[in-house]
Amino acid sequence: MKNDPRSHGLWERSAPPAPPTSRLSDDLEADVAVIGAGFTGLSAALHLAEAGASVAVLEGVEIGFGGSGRNVGLVNAGMWVMPDDLPGELGEVYGNRLLHLLGDAPSLVFELVEKHAMACEVERSGTLHCAVGAKGLAEVHERARQWQARGAPVRLLDAEETARKVGTNAYSGSLLDLRAGTIQPLAYARGLAVAASKAGAQIFTASPVLDAQEVDSRWMVRTSAGSVQAKWVIVATNAYTTNVWPQIRAELVHLPYFNLATKPLGDNLRTAILPERQGVWDTKDILSSFRFDQKGRLVFGSVGALRGPGRTIHPNWGRRALRKLFPQLAGIEFEYEWYGSIGMTSNNLPRFHRLARNVVSFSGYNGRGIAPGTVFGRTLARFVLGELAEDDLPLPVTEPEPVRLRAVKEAYYEVGAQIVHAAMTRF
Ligand SMILES: Cc1cc2nc3c(=O)[nH]c(=O)nc-3n(C[C@H](O)[C@H](O)[C@H](O)COP(=O)(O)OP(=O)(O)OC[C@H]3O[C@@H](n4cnc5c(N)ncnc54)[C@H](O)[C@@H]3O)c2cc1C
Repeated sequence: MKNDPRSHGLWERSAPPAPPTSRLSDDLEADVAVIGAGFTGLSAALHLAEAGASVAVLEGVEIGFGGSGRNVGLVNAGMWVMPDDLPGELGEVYGNRLLHLLGDAPSLVFELVEKHAMACEVERSGTLHCAVGAKGLAEVHERARQWQARGAPVRLLDAEETARKVGTNAYSGSLLDLRAGTIQPLAYARGLAVAASKAGAQIFTASPVLDAQEVDSRWMVRTSAGSVQAKWVIVATNAYTTNVWPQIRAELVHLPYFNLATKPLGDNLRTAILPERQGVWDTKDILSSFRFDQKGRLVFGSVGALRGPGRTIHPNWGRRALRKLFPQLAGIEFEYEWYGSIGMTSNNLPRFHRLARNVVSFSGYNGRGIAPGTVFGRTLARFVLGELAEDDLPLPVTEPEPVRLRAVKEAYYEVGAQIVHAAMTRF
């Protein structure tokens, strides 16, 4: 996108085409204006349109331009935060409601994919949260205990079973989460867009919203060449927010994350590494993740931005790290490299905001946005349709709170990841 091979990398090359869209060049009226065409905005648009509402989606660049088209594709259940910590942070009612909603969230993704026949490389064999050392093992033990106490289908695997499932003995154990899986994320975003269009939503791309004003109880949402007048506005711009409601971006610290994709591996490697095709991430502070795409490329990722010195440091580290994990991959080259920004909140939990009268948003998914974005989009649709009251939402309404020293924190993450990866000669 934007002729930048490092923005969406492999996903842009292997996704089915986006549905035809155009730039907004008229003055329209709709029940709801949705700003942003990622998982949140597109899921909201789909569910609104299916319920008979008229919807106009305004996307600044292209469908899936933000995190939705760049991520690893791990369709995870729950959040980073340990399950038992959620009621502590949010109170019993919201904490348990959010856990329940996000624990089940992957099933909504898989249902939509099936219902709308989206070609997005779905694998439903679960994810493996792999433990590094004794500390990592204690963490996955505790996570397994907490989820199992809530009846979730997660299993703790010992080092031996983990080695069989992953194809390396680098890990001291793992948590297998059978609710989860992997997808091709840009293909999923485009699939949502196709489904929303078929249901009647209008989607405009290359149409950044520049301004939004309330005029006579309606919102007038303007781009450079047109406008949408709507009763409700859903702001689904999250970590990639530009121009309007900048407080959403001001509340998030950008954590850079990159992916490197090998060429398609041969049959012997494909059966030795992740033979059941789970998605993997580990318990390190500067974590790594990996998964296969449908053509047998291994997609390997970690914290960092592929710009400046990071453009060589991170891929060099990636080659070393892969060789340590899977010696058979020594000398492997990467066909694609890309990166994006994850929006982190101060307590690693998402936010629900009422930004003005009839203007609502969910944001701050902390690197867990495929399933949450999909369910939060549906939640926003139901709220706007009057099917859910504010008290029924999975999060309390909060005011956006700007992060102090945001730019410093973002530079720290970017440079810190370079230092760690440059210094890491052992995986
Ligand atoms: C590298 C990376 C790896 C990740 N890995 C995973 C993973 O494996 N699993 C997982 O669940 N999550 C992962 N995430 C997080 C996940 O991708 C995001 O949480 C999710 O995509 C957020 O979706 P969204 O629709 O809320 O926002 P986005 O997808 O970011 O969409 C926001 C959209 O709003 C548009 N926009 C902004 N301002 C305007 C404006 N003024 N007018 C019009 N449009 C505007 C942007 O162009 C953008 O397209 C990862 C994220 C990154 C970056």
